[in-house]
Amino acid sequence: MLEQNKITRRKSISVQVGSILIGGHAPVVVQSMTNTDTEDCDKTAQQIIQLATAGSGLVRMTVNTEKAAAAVPFIRDRVRAANCQVPLVGDFHYNGHRLLSLYPDCAEALDKYRINPGNVGYGTKRDVNFSTLIEIALRFNKAVRIGVNWGSLDQDLLTQLMDKNASASDPKPAQIILREALIQSALLSADLAQKLGLPENRIVLSCKVSQVQELIAIHRSLAERCRYPIHLGLTEAGMGDACIIATTAALSILLQEGIGDTIRCSLTPDPGADRTREVKVCQHILQALGFVAFTPTISACPGCGRTTSTYFQSLASQIRLYIDQRMPYWKKCYRGVETLSLAVMGCVVNGPGESKHANIGISLPGNGENPIAPVFADGRKIATLRAENIFTEFTQILESYVADHYETIV
Ligand code: SF4
Repeated sequence: MLEQNKITRRKSISVQVGSILIGGHAPVVVQSMTNTDTEDCDKTAQQIIQLATAGSGLVRMTVNTEKAAAAVPFIRDRVRAANCQVPLVGDFHYNGHRLLSLYPDCAEALDKYRINPGNVGYGTKRDVNFSTLIEIALRFNKAVRIGVNWGSLDQDLLTQLMDKNASASDPKPAQIILREALIQSALLSADLAQKLGLPENRIVLSCKVSQVQELIAIHRSLAERCRYPIHLGLTEAGMGDACIIATTAALSILLQEGIGDTIRCSLTPDPGADRTREVKVCQHILQALGFVAFTPTISACPGCGRTTSTYFQSLASQIRLYIDQRMPYWKKCYRGVETLSLAVMGCVVNGPGESKHANIGISLPGNGENPIAPVFADGRKIATLRAENIFTEFTQILESYVADHYETIV
């Protein structure tokens, strides 16, 4: 792990969830959620294993029907049979109290329950249903995430706060009251859970919204008002670059302030696209902030008029692909290989300099330069490669560097 000396993490209590700890001094955990039908044991178990293998430290699945609740223990068994110990979280809305009561094997198989206080019932039913969920968590010794979402905010609480604000001598903007309602919904529910006997160290909170500035403001306030670990995520963040950029902007600011114990990128996948992309995005955020290294970094220049051929672009992407393919093996064999840094540069202007900052770097010839590519290792020039065999020879040098510089795992 990289040094975390520049960031003072907010002091939260730690919560045991299955085989991992959340909060306290534990590293920030990446989490994800399946998008298979939970009633389909095979597909759901398979996707959980894929997400965990990609680096998800917790995987959540929706538990929305009786058949889904009945499937959960079988999913757990299949995941564990594949030697995958990732903690499993059940996502409950509307009928969680009923499903967990009717299917105790489901309640036992999950490591954590996600409860949305806006969706546990209405009027007098709400407290009864919420109490049932907490009693089941107590009976099976499980953690609970009280996950508030502004798309399903407790409307009674919001109305109460809006009415109070309207009659105040100096009313605040509605946006401030909405933020307060989200925070209060989480805190009041956590307080009620504790009054029902759930220990403080079994509660995690989140308040999800889909706007960056709102997420930041809400979590800054929430973090000051409690010690529970906080799960961060921009909800309904959308697709592609827009989602990734908005999530990165919001989460980076909060993480840099020491806020956030688990994170998720709620990326809408392209049809048929790999669900693990959301895990990779979170890993990139944590790695870019210097919290933890998941995979070797490659610095590559953007190219300019000095590199009118696409040779160096394709070399950079070939090397990225090569590393991604080799990492499962390297990780098993070489301790710390994920901290390796590489540079693939397009010309002599910044090439040799940037290459010297990396563990291993190559500076390709720009237009009109000699067709040679100096290779640097730990700041020293160690080889000069020529034309057609550059990729093959560079990967040979890379393999030797990894074997020589990282402790072999026996
Ligand atoms: S290193 Fe060379 S090719 Fe790359 S951006 Fe800088 S000047 Fe252009």
